[in-house]
Parts: sequence; structure tokens; C-alpha cells
Amino acid sequence: MAFNQDAYKELEQVVGKNNVSQDIAMRESYRVINSQSSAHFGPYDVKSPMPGAVIMPGCTEEVQKIVKICNKYHIPFKAATTFWSVMGYIGDDDSLQIDMKRMKKMEFHERDQYVIVEPYAIGAVVQVEAMKRGFNVNMAGVGCSSSTLAGTASWVAFGPSSCFMGVASENMLATEWVLPNGELLRTGTLGAGGDWFCGEGPGPSVRGMLRGMQGPAGSMGVCCRVAVRLHPWPGPRVLPSYGVGAAYKLVPQWNIKTYTLNFPNWKGYANTINLLSQNNEIAYLGHRQFNMWGRYIKLPMLELLSDPEGQLCDLPKYMNDPYIAEQNKLCKIDLQVVIVGMTKRDMEWKEKALDEILRRVKGWKNEFMLQPKIHDFVALYLLRLGHKNLNYTLASSYEGSGGLSNNVFVTSKVMEEYHEMREEFDKHSTALAATGGDSEMGALSTLGGGGITGYEFFQWFDRHDRESVKGCCDFIQNYSQKLCDKYGFGADMGNWNKTARHPETDYYYTQDEQNEMFVTMAQPGLVTYQYKVREAFNPLNLCGSYYRTLDPEYLKAYKAKQAKKAKK
Ligand SMILES: Cc1cc2nc3c(=O)[nH]c(=O)nc-3n(C[C@H](O)[C@H](O)[C@H](O)COP(=O)(O)OP(=O)(O)OC[C@H]3O[C@@H](n4cnc5c(N)ncnc54)[C@H](O)[C@@H]3O)c2cc1C
Repeated sequence: MAFNQDAYKELEQVVGKNNVSQDIAMRESYRVINSQSSAHFGPYDVKSPMPGAVIMPGCTEEVQKIVKICNKYHIPFKAATTFWSVMGYIGDDDSLQIDMKRMKKMEFHERDQYVIVEPYAIGAVVQVEAMKRGFNVNMAGVGCSSSTLAGTASWVAFGPSSCFMGVASENMLATEWVLPNGELLRTGTLGAGGDWFCGEGPGPSVRGMLRGMQGPAGSMGVCCRVAVRLHPWPGPRVLPSYGVGAAYKLVPQWNIKTYTLNFPNWKGYANTINLLSQNNEIAYLGHRQFNMWGRYIKLPMLELLSDPEGQLCDLPKYMNDPYIAEQNKLCKIDLQVVIVGMTKRDMEWKEKALDEILRRVKGWKNEFMLQPKIHDFVALYLLRLGHKNLNYTLASSYEGSGGLSNNVFVTSKVMEEYHEMREEFDKHSTALAATGGDSEMGALSTLGGGGITGYEFFQWFDRHDRESVKGCCDFIQNYSQKLCDKYGFGADMGNWNKTARHPETDYYYTQDEQNEMFVTMAQPGLVTYQYKVREAFNPLNLCGSYYRTLDPEYLKAYKAKQAKKAKK
């Protein structure tokens, strides 16, 4: 089957010939090898399907017309913006990939403390403009080159600043959304003929159909504009930097301090998270960030990265440097925090409060990380999150595993066991990079105000090497998932999207396949409810299987069959 040519002509009329293409080279460039982070269904070495055509709308009206054409001709479609995640790529043949990059406007409402963003207003730009006005925005952990709208409307968007600035579900105000059937939905105050300052009501929240804690990953049509909360920023209106790229550093500021806290044990770490959450105003930002390279090389990595001429071949030199090696050892259990003072007194109080917490848990501030060149590099790194490429330093790909979630007192007890499990795996396999498996990377909180943590363990592998890919799958299924099962943590992060895409083909699941997958689930009400929502807004099922659904009739028939069997 080929892309419907009548539909293509109509699409051309909507956006003009220059903004739609079925050129093979263009379509090929909208495929991805799905063994990339954020696939979260284990790494496989297949590519996402080739779209039938690619289109770039320029405004909401165009998006609406495009979606209506897709409905008319039954063409599956999916919108994506900055394409960091596999979730944004289509999963059916002859689909339409909607690339939202032409829509990139922002509109600040300073008095009411929100900004309306279009999809391609990326985090870096929104933040710079917000800071000029004395505000900041939550930056999703994927970094500042990602779309603020995509994270807010379609995913979780937790990150280092979420303890202070919240996550997507907390920051999303009114939205303008083209539903999968082509209808335009305006939520909250916007839908009631008002402004954009509130995402809820009047009456039952339609916002809740579009997203909960986690967004629909592009399976509920196309979000064209969203109002996002702004948060206080008492720092300079333009972040002054010095040094040479990519090792830019923040010119020291009296009211911005970055510390790496060290702890003698995981209990001290958990207690600190707890105390910082109870006194939420202390940390402006908090993340266990640099352990992403693994506990043996994190400070040597920072030494070379903060030097513009640093190269990976310098790593052994820094690992063997007695001072760095000693500090690295002391830094085994660590947490990065950024303290930002609203006033001089506020700054003094925050410093004292942090010192008091460290006194209570017998922790300390890592000395290596206080050196000006490291401090200033790390401060800019964390405030901007502009170095996300470094997630791919050690190999071409990684899959996040573990995902040990929620209660830090429970999960921090498992950190060493996870580390040992990975070391055990490495004794018989060279499939994975021999460092980083103990990343235990995660935010101080994945909810505004603190309370929930989550830890990602990076398994770095070579996506061009089948054995390496296979080894990574083996580790996730036969080690990491088993550990999650043992402690009742649920699905391993490497399995989160297992029910959304076929691992062997990267295609979406059909409704029949989803029925089979979900019919035995413990609480099927969740997915039968979503089925009803999907039927109402997306009866042709055009936007893929990230929105998990179970046909209630199928469930009813299954239950009747089970009851009959039991009677026999
Ligand atoms: C290295 C790395 C680190 C990450 N770290 C984090 C993290 O710390 N926290 C976190 O929450 N996530 C994290 N993720 C996941 C990431 O946040 C999501 O993938 C995020 O949405 C980034 O994607 P993007 O902004 O590039 O948007 P895209 O990849 O373009 O889209 C992301 C999703 O949103 C949908 N979408 C995009 N635009 C629209 C639109 N206009 N209308 C409707 N749907 C749309 C897409 O279909 C897709 O499902 C990470 C991913 C990577 C690769």
C-alpha cells in the first residue's frame, strides 16, 4: 500500500508544497533506530517504520485541517517536535508524521505568571526569555533542547528543578488541542471564554482525559499551544558565563550556590531527601546527576569536561590522580543541589539550613566540587541542562533500567544490591559498557514540593552490535526486572513501553493485540475507561497504542468464558 495520493494533494493545499513531502530521503530521515533512550521497551535493533509522508503545519487551523484529512482517508498520524524520544515516531505503515517545528511562538503573561508556548519553543529559549523577566520554567530532565510543550502535554517532564517547579501535570494550564477526530478542544479558563491561567474546569476536568501524571505520548491528537506556569527567578536577567564552549561556566553569583553533598551511607542520603522535601524552600534544584557515568569515573569525567581541551583519553590520567581518586571515593553516595537566595537573609538561612541537615546526617560538601572551575561549570550545567548529549558518552545508546520508584527509604536500600548485580553480570558478559550500570540517577523529587523519587540505571550498549543489544535485553529481563519483582517495584523502566510497540518491528499494537495483553490485568477498569475515551475522540484509532485500551465487550466475553470454565 502507498500513501493515498488524493489525501496528499489535499495536504499540499493546506500547508503549501514546501511544507509536505513524500520524498524518500525526507521520509527516511524521520525514522529512528529504536534502541535509543526513552524507548523503554528494551533495546532492539530495528528501525521505526517509514512514514508515508511528512508534514509541517504552521498554525492550529492547519493542524485541524490535516487531522480532518487523516480522518477522511483513515491515515494514521502522529505529531512530534524535537524527537528526542522514540515515542514521537510513527508506528504504522503509510502514516503521516507531523513535525511541529514551524510553530515556535511564545507569549509571556508576567502579571499572571505563565507563558503560552507553541511546540517548537524549546526549553533553552523559553528559559532565557523567562529569566529576562525574573522567572524560570521547569526543565524536563531530557534537557533544554527539548520541547517545553511536548514534555508538558505529552509526557512527565520531571527533572532537577521539579522539587521547586513541579512536573508537567502541575505546570500545564489551559491548552489548545486538536483532538484525533479533528475537533478543537480548549481546556480550563480558555474553554470558558477566558484567559489561559487555569487548566481545570468549569465542571469535570477534560484535562484529565488528555493527561494524568503521565501524558499520552502523542496518542491523543495534536497539542498546538499550552500555557505553562512560570516560577520565581531571583538570579541575573541574563546568565553571565565565561570560558570556552562546551565548557562554559557561570560567573559566580552571590545568590546561586551549587553543592555536591556526600553521605556516609544511604540512610543519610534518604534522610536528606526527606528533610529537603519537608523544607521545600531550601533547594531550588536537586538531582543525583553525575553518577550517570558510574561511581568510578564521575569526578574524573567532570575534570575533563570542565576543561575545553579535555578528551576521553585523559580519563585514566584523572582516575589515577591521587587527589581526584580520593575525592571520587568520598563522593560515592552523592546529591547535587542548587541553592538560590531570594534575598541576602534568605540565602544565609538556606546555607545554614543545609549545613544543619548535613550535620544531622553526618554528611559533607564535596571539596573537589567546590573548586571554582568545577563549581561554575556544574552550576551552569544544572541550571540550563544543556549537556544532554553527555548521556551518550560511553556508547552509542543506553536503556534506562531499574526505575526504582517512589519511596526513597525503600529504594535506597536496594542501590548496593543493584550495583552488585550489575558487577556480577559483567563477570560473564562484555555486552554492556563496564561503567554506568550503577547510575542511580534521579531527581530530588519527581513531584513539586518533594515526596517521590525515582532512579534510572543506565545500561550503555552499542546499537550497531547485535551481541551488545542482546546482552542489554538479557540484563533488563533476567536481572533488573527480577530485582524489581523481588521488591514489588513493578515494571522495570526498560519495560515501561513494552505494551506500546512491537519489539521486533517497532509497529504499534492493534486493538485485538491490546485486548489480549490487557484482559488479564489486575485492574482492567483503567484501560476499559481509556477505551471509552478513545472511542469518543479517536474512533478510527489513528494515533497509536501508547494510549492503552481494552474493549469492554472483549473483557465481558472473557469473564463469561472464565465463569463457564469455573462452573465445569
Ligand atoms: C536522554 C534522555 C533523557 C531523558 N530524561 C527525562 C527526564 O529526566 N524526565 C522526563 O520526564 N523525561 C525524560 N526523557 C523522556 C523525554 O522527556 C521525553 O521523551 C520528552 O517528551 C522529550 O521529547 P521531546 O521534547 O524531544 O519531544 P518529542 O520527542 O518530539 O515528543 C515527545 C512525545 O510527545 C509527543 N508530542 C510532541 N509534540 C506534540 C504535540 N505538539 N502534540 C501532541 N503530542 C506531541 C510525541 O508524539 C511524543 O510521544 C528523556 C529522554 C531522553 C532521550
